[in-house]
Amino acid sequence: MTFSQPLVARHLFGPGPGNPYPEATAALGHPLLGHLDPAFLALMDETCDHLRQVWGTQNRRTLPLSATGSAGMEAGFVNTVEPGDVVVVGVNGLFGQRMCDVAARCGAEVIPVEFDWGTPVDPQRLADAHPNPKVIAAVHAETSTGVRSDIKALGELKDDALLLVDAVTAIGGIELKADDWGIDVGYAGTQKCLGVPPGLAPFTISERAWERRVQKPQSWYLDLGLLGGYLDSDGTGGGRTYHHTAPTAMVAALHAGLERILAEGLDAVIARHAKAGRLLQEGLQEMGLELFAQEGSRLPDLTTVKVPEGVDAGAVRGELLERFNIEIGAGAGKFAKSVWRIGLMGPNASEDSAELVLAALRAVLKR
Ligand SMILES: *Cc1c(COP(=O)(O)O)cnc(C)c1O
Repeated sequence: MTFSQPLVARHLFGPGPGNPYPEATAALGHPLLGHLDPAFLALMDETCDHLRQVWGTQNRRTLPLSATGSAGMEAGFVNTVEPGDVVVVGVNGLFGQRMCDVAARCGAEVIPVEFDWGTPVDPQRLADAHPNPKVIAAVHAETSTGVRSDIKALGELKDDALLLVDAVTAIGGIELKADDWGIDVGYAGTQKCLGVPPGLAPFTISERAWERRVQKPQSWYLDLGLLGGYLDSDGTGGGRTYHHTAPTAMVAALHAGLERILAEGLDAVIARHAKAGRLLQEGLQEMGLELFAQEGSRLPDLTTVKVPEGVDAGAVRGELLERFNIEIGAGAGKFAKSVWRIGLMGPNASEDSAELVLAALRAVLKR
């Protein structure tokens, strides 16, 4: 056996997973519930209610899909896109590129609208890309570049199109108002700002999108119609039928993480992320480092910073992990060796974590 558990818990300051809230970790150890147990159905109902709050939606069909954020992306497209449908995608990083790939596999006529990595998507250019697309898709928080795009403005311009939004690194970390902004289909993940281990994809779909959904999607597992047993709850659990075995321990963890967030207050949690990100970004600049994402569009929860000339990006990350148990991320795509990604998400969105990573980076760079 070559695996050995690190003696000290890692500080997960990369692009995700981040460290979970202790309440979420503790819930994983609760006695396991069966997936049709009335107690579990009540837990699931409450979890969906809590999810509505963090999404900013009244959508009846709001639930955690049983897989990671990428399955949320897949579910979003397979349930709205049929061969020949026109899909406009804003591409300003890795996850926008993935959306194009997933939409193309559904047979869509994909119109990618490209932007420089490190800059946000321009909503007007997306709206102008085609007169009548079925779907306009964009990433709210591009984790690959640390950039926030203006989803509210996109919602105002969407016209008849369905607005499909990746909120994986937005939910529970920055402002997100699905209903007010006109998001028709949204997906997220648990392991970023929600502070829960990876494994579920919080998902929401508006009535408008539901009516225009694909009747027989190419995916059986992610067919929202078949998932009706979870979706069409009347609160009694009576309508629940077996589709797949819900990962009940993960749902318990998500429930606990959401309770933790709502007890602190969603606005307070978002303000905490904003403050931690600001401290980190100011500290990095004081060290003489240059931020990668365009000013004015920087995410507080995921900071991208340029690797200084002559510094081995991978060696620094390795030393941070070995000496300080701190994980940070490499840059994405062609920026793998020239950018670092530092996430302060969930419980890590704190002044202490910002100071910790700054001090460690300073110590490593000094050598
Ligand atoms: C992490 C992430 C995903 C993918 O989520 P997984 O949980 O890794 O499947 C998708 N979009 C964005 C913006 C992400 O940050």
